[in-house]
Amino acid sequence: MYSLGINKDIIDSIYKEGHPIAQYGLYMKRAKPYKVFKIPVDCGSICPNKDGTLDTEGCIFCPKMGRPIGVKYCNSKYSLKYQIEKQMENQKKKGVDKFYIYFYPGTNTYGDPERLKELWDFALSYSDVVGLSIGTRPDCLSREILDILENYVKKGYEIWIDLGIQSFHQKTLDLINRKHGVSHIIGAILECKRRGILVCGHVILGLPDETWEEMIDTAESLSKLGIDALKIYPLVVVKGTKLEEMYWKGEYRALDRKQYIKILCDFLEHTSPYVLIQRVSKDKVPEEIKVSPEWNLSRLSILNDAIKEFKRRGTRQGVYYRG
Ligand code: SF4
Repeated sequence: MYSLGINKDIIDSIYKEGHPIAQYGLYMKRAKPYKVFKIPVDCGSICPNKDGTLDTEGCIFCPKMGRPIGVKYCNSKYSLKYQIEKQMENQKKKGVDKFYIYFYPGTNTYGDPERLKELWDFALSYSDVVGLSIGTRPDCLSREILDILENYVKKGYEIWIDLGIQSFHQKTLDLINRKHGVSHIIGAILECKRRGILVCGHVILGLPDETWEEMIDTAESLSKLGIDALKIYPLVVVKGTKLEEMYWKGEYRALDRKQYIKILCDFLEHTSPYVLIQRVSKDKVPEEIKVSPEWNLSRLSILNDAIKEFKRRGTRQGVYYRG
């Protein structure tokens, strides 16, 4: 029904036009015969790292109240139907034809598989929905869940797992209290790929005590595993987190903007040229909850500065990647 997998020829054409990064947005415009938009929805998912199953504290950067999303109608106080239809209506007015439904805050493959399947079936029941993006942790992809997702792939839907990875180093995963191992990351990526499920990994640059070499190793290791896409973020200190305590005690200092742009470009130079880059920074974090860094995190301004830095260096994504 829909073309699946990442088309390398399209990515090559992006570089030939002079773009230094395999940007997801540029790729989608060339790969799809329609205009597509990802609708974020919040179904009130919880997390085993917060509900007491693994821990109650969560990752050191994750706010107790959950991650705020500044998108109108993406709120668990509304039904899934309402969240989808209101956003679809707004986007259709802007000329969007097709949609992915993005199950975002919390761990969206955690819980009763029957209930989760009902939510996903419902989202896919709209004729203009061509796929799903599902945000989760690497240790929450059971065989039962993967079977359900693989069935959607077999029906022709494009299914993405938005996988919280953050780092490929066990000492960092322990320090940030992820409560899962590197082996879970490897297993999740390989199992998804085997089943035709696309994987977008989320990585944070500037985690406590991470060296340049370790961040670069994360880029190379994920590329070698065949990850399809990445969202890359600077670490942000938010109020009410363990990271905030570390910050006020002087145990953690965020990267400054110049350092972030530099490590971001270094990271991308060591990432496979065929990994799509969905993001290089955050959406705006509300000032009332942001403690650090001071600088403008907006993803468009970071993207523009990263492109300028690549032009200055005369390089692009993947130049130092040896797959
Ligand atoms: S896995 Fe995600 S939702 Fe759970 S504590 Fe960590 S950042 Fe928060």
